Amino acid sequence: MTLSEATHPNHDLARQLRDSRLSGGLRHFIGGQWVEAQSGRTFDAHSPTDNTRLVTVAEGDAADIDRAARAAHDAFQTWKEVSGAERRKILHRIADLIEQRAQEIAVLESMDTGQAIRFMKSAATRGAENFRFYADRAPSAQDGQSLPAPGFINYTLRQPIGPVGVITPWNTPFMLSTWKIAPALAAGCTVVHKPAEWSPVTATLLAEIMDEAGLPKGVHNLVHGFGEGAGKALTEHPLIQAIAFVGETTTGSHIMRQGADTLKRVHFELGGKNPVVVFDDADLDKALDAVVFMIYSLNGERCTSSSRVLIQEGIYDEFTARIAERARNIRVGDPLDPETEIGPLVHPRHFDKVLSYFDTAQQEGATIAAGGKRLGEAGNYVSPTLFTGARNEMKIAQEEIFGPVLTAIPFSDEAEALALANDVRYGLAGYLWTNDLTRAHRFAQGLQAGMVWVNSENVRHLPTPFGGVKNSGIGRDGGDYSFEFYMETKNIAVSLGTHKTARLGVGKAPTITKEEADA
Ligand code: NAD
Repeated sequence: MTLSEATHPNHDLARQLRDSRLSGGLRHFIGGQWVEAQSGRTFDAHSPTDNTRLVTVAEGDAADIDRAARAAHDAFQTWKEVSGAERRKILHRIADLIEQRAQEIAVLESMDTGQAIRFMKSAATRGAENFRFYADRAPSAQDGQSLPAPGFINYTLRQPIGPVGVITPWNTPFMLSTWKIAPALAAGCTVVHKPAEWSPVTATLLAEIMDEAGLPKGVHNLVHGFGEGAGKALTEHPLIQAIAFVGETTTGSHIMRQGADTLKRVHFELGGKNPVVVFDDADLDKALDAVVFMIYSLNGERCTSSSRVLIQEGIYDEFTARIAERARNIRVGDPLDPETEIGPLVHPRHFDKVLSYFDTAQQEGATIAAGGKRLGEAGNYVSPTLFTGARNEMKIAQEEIFGPVLTAIPFSDEAEALALANDVRYGLAGYLWTNDLTRAHRFAQGLQAGMVWVNSENVRHLPTPFGGVKNSGIGRDGGDYSFEFYMETKNIAVSLGTHKTARLGVGKAPTITKEEADA
């Protein structure tokens, strides 16, 4: 592990950014203005490297949310009328600016979340790509279908649902925010964004970039604060038509309850305990690379991480030994050092949660084959960890740890592997390694997951649906699927003037057609 005072140019930029951007604190962005919380209250966000204060942040509450929701409501009246071609231009400008400032975004994201800089630059450029992808779809977002019927032309069109709330988590906040905000804007919705309190920094940068790109005032609003304050108020606000939420499963339940009175439409991207299943006929070198990457990259703080590896009995010992060896070699250290593979976990509370599973594993009778320790005296550093000898009913196999911690479980045959893979409350992603073509299809179709990768780690194509089943979510992001959430589908039926209307009040009982019988 390298925890020394580093001297990379990233540190010079980090120091400059601390002085220029963070020292004055973070404010809300409402109706095109940077404003303090109406209450005047603030909270601090901390650096995961040593848990000292990184920045002071305006603490939003119901009053700030109300102001932002009204701004979004007012702006919606004009934004929904802006042509798709114009929305396209603005969204491309946003993508251009994100690309220009990718290094700054990456450094701030690393400082705020503890994610290694080597991954954050790509996360920033992926954010730009999300804007480009939806920019190009803005002109056709409203397109519908033609559904002719006898005597009628039916056609559908899609219209933006209105102002929406976007609530995001702390793990890779910039990229995740662009997933939600780009399609919402392309659809013609306006947005109130409530980022996570543990990593609020890059949401500010995104708001600044969108403003600079010419997004009209009030179309995007940002309110910082805690989940139970600003977050809850957003989910309850009557002017907000829908909530796009990424976060924990239990928070999803709260939001569903909070949104019940105003009948909020919800889209949930929640937790996971994703299996990666390795059969003995697989390309084991490639499988090893993918297994190691999908749990130890992004600090293991990644919803699609493959945190349970199911390995066929005959190769279990050797394969787990190879994972353990790789885990021990992973470079843990300063997130701004380009050589670092794992940085510190985001917050002491999350750090304690992850550490607690090291005790749980031992109490449950599993073996800590690698890691299982905190690293260093200061900051939230943990060693990449592998638990072996685990059974699927153990907590370490059932609960989302959300850190660089992998649980390995043996299986004997395909039927057992599928039963184990599906025996969790989650169902976000599944990964499968085999060279048997028919088994690959059979198994993939039987896996209870929203997304399955065969002989691959998570390599996502933007038009494809992203989301989970069971406790991992409701709804899909990506491609046209996002527009189904941010837009209402309307059917317009136009008579060709040839159909007969049943006549009431003319003395004899009318007959009606079965088409007229629909209530
Ligand atoms: P979290 O649920 O604690 O917080 C997420 C956001 O919700 C934060 O902005 C928080 O302030 C807000 N919030 C909390 N309580 C709220 C309430 N009552 N009403 C409204 N908002 C509230 O999640 P987290 O710890 O920030 O993120 C980690 C979780 O996110 C993990 O479970 C992870 O799997 C999940 N995640 C899922 C995906 C996915 O695509 N499925 C992607 C990334 C992260």
